[in-house]
Amino acid sequence: MARDPVCGMECDEKIAKWKTTHTRKTYYFCAPGCQKAFEANPHKYMKM
Ligand SMILES: [Zn+2]
Repeated sequence: MARDPVCGMECDEKIAKWKTTHTRKTYYFCAPGCQKAFEANPHKYMKM
């Protein structure tokens, strides 16, 4: 399981619809809003 860095929810990477790659790491999100928040300010969430 991957963890949504924005809200902390667990996301199954096999079925996750929303993902983004940042500094060669892939992040998964539970919703498009979480993806947008991450992409707007990735450094705020990357530590999690
Ligand atoms: Zn989320």
